[in-house]
Amino acid sequence: MEECIFCKIIKGEIPCKKVYEDDKVLGFEDINPKAPVHVLLIPKKHIKSLNDLCEEDSDIISHMMLMVKKVAEKVNIRDNGYRLVVNCGKDGGQEVPHIHFHILGGKPLSWQPA
Ligand code: 5GP
Ligand code: ZN
Repeated sequence: MEECIFCKIIKGEIPCKKVYEDDKVLGFEDINPKAPVHVLLIPKKHIKSLNDLCEEDSDIISHMMLMVKKVAEKVNIRDNGYRLVVNCGKDGGQEVPHIHFHILGGKPLSWQPA
């Protein structure tokens, strides 16, 4: 059993502000928001990063993608728009080794990835 911080959140061992949950994914507020609205969407299966996705995960990842608009609707940013970010590895700034979508919005976002 994986002991990463997001797996602990899934198991309820670390509290979170839940936004959305189903049998495959969990959406919750980021503890250190980078925008007025910042939700993390994670699969319940521990997958380390984009680099570790395999063919058998295609149903999970497509479900995650389909749930983005649902999460956006729950936190009232669907209509104004939002940004989806997936950091991967060291240069991508990934700190938690459990794949996650950042869903960011709540204001017009600047574009300064570098
Ligand atoms: P990364 O840098 O890996 O792409 O993003 C990890 C995100 O997880 C960061 O935005 C960070 O604020 C968030 N985070 C880290 N630990 C926790 C936690 O215990 N609870 C919540 N809600 N967010 C966390
Ligand atoms: Zn994990």
